[in-house]
Amino acid sequence: MLTHLGKFEIVQLLAQGSMGEVYVGRDPILNREVAIKVIHPSASVGAAARERFATEARAAGALNHPNIVTIHEMGEDQGVLYLAMELVKGEDLGTLIRAGTLSPRDTLEVLAQVCDGLAVAHRQKVLHRDLKPSNLRVVWDGTLLQAKILDFGVAKILNSDTTDEGTVFGTVNYMAPEYLQSGRPDSRSDLFAVGVILYEALAGLPPFDGPSPGSVIYRLLHATPPPLPPTAYRGISREVQGILNRALAKDPAQRFQTAEELASALRRAKDPLWRWNQERPTTALPLHPAPSAARTALPTPPKGLPLAALRPAAAVPPVSPSSSPVPAKGDPKAEVRRDVLETTRLQLLQAIDLDPRNVRAHALLLVTLYRLGRLDAMMQTFRHARDRGISSSALRAIPRCAQLAEEEERACRLPLDQHQEFLAFLRSAE
Ligand code: ADP
Ligand code: MG
Repeated sequence: MLTHLGKFEIVQLLAQGSMGEVYVGRDPILNREVAIKVIHPSASVGAAARERFATEARAAGALNHPNIVTIHEMGEDQGVLYLAMELVKGEDLGTLIRAGTLSPRDTLEVLAQVCDGLAVAHRQKVLHRDLKPSNLRVVWDGTLLQAKILDFGVAKILNSDTTDEGTVFGTVNYMAPEYLQSGRPDSRSDLFAVGVILYEALAGLPPFDGPSPGSVIYRLLHATPPPLPPTAYRGISREVQGILNRALAKDPAQRFQTAEELASALRRAKDPLWRWNQERPTTALPLHPAPSAARTALPTPPKGLPLAALRPAAAVPPVSPSSSPVPAKGDPKAEVRRDVLETTRLQLLQAIDLDPRNVRAHALLLVTLYRLGRLDAMMQTFRHARDRGISSSALRAIPRCAQLAEEEERACRLPLDQHQEFLAFLRSAE
């Protein structure tokens, strides 16, 4: 029975980990509680365990961020290796997912914070490599949620002289395809794991599951998880399905490329006005003020967009800023127009969040997404509206939406099957 390890008093057992126990301890000098992870170096795990501890101490010890557990000390006493760290109260995310107590909004907040922590780790060239719900803790003090990343035991410090290239560590269910195939993860593999956790937390089921590790690996490499059930969107934007599609792309080049980018997308989905409030001041808007009254009222999308605006860029003659379907990057006027459309999009999303059967908002969102060239999102919105029982005649009653059908018929920008699905519905007489 351990009572002390180094200068720390052992207070009580906290959890049984896979390689040893985690205790609540006390630092008598600073009079504060700590968490102490121990490993009894048995013959079989001695060297590997020592290496994991050293890795965790080096990797997390080098990082200083509110969303990453702080490491205090690594030591050995009475034949026991120990790692003393910040005691993170709250619950582990795995427990919260199983209990179903985390709302979709809180899930997005927790994972956005996890991305904040990862952004710092990645910038310092540390990969976690074993992100999973049980390695994330969530502290809730009654008003504020805080997420902490734990367990950098299999972290990799890029450019360090450790030579484990090609070795796969961690829990298979959260592993990115390229990690499984090559054993060489990069920061985007950590972001894939965040995507898996996001799906699991929202859907209540892991996206890639099976009766054996082999079947899980097969699905990770080849399967597309089913779309989220409608209950998963309670209080958050439907954009989250698009975030998942991107986060779980098999090809790392198709994913979010940085943790910052994923964090922004998660915050945007949590609060459709987030981008408006937080990002607008940093995006230069020298030419036009954004519609200032638009935050309180459902706006009408910018007027004066002729039907030609809906044609592919190649078919459009040299244009005023209001008539390009996918405003070009770099052209300041087009940037302003894109900004206006983005603002409109966010406000429409908010209107739909408030009233999921708002026909006008759905119809205008279809038009706005089409103008932005976000055809996947447009099809999602369209199916969402249809599944909510919004009829084709209700959509046709919004003139811009009826024109959208005509334009799509001419321009055929959607893939053929979607083109047919979209037009068949909009034209149907119910
Ligand atoms: P595993 O190897 O199974 O991931 P760990 O040893 O990392 O196990 O952790 C076991 C349990 O202890 C987990 O539920 C984790 O949430 C908890 N735990 C680990 N470190 C801390 C800490 N610093 N503060 C609070 N709980 C912790
Ligand atoms: Mg762990």
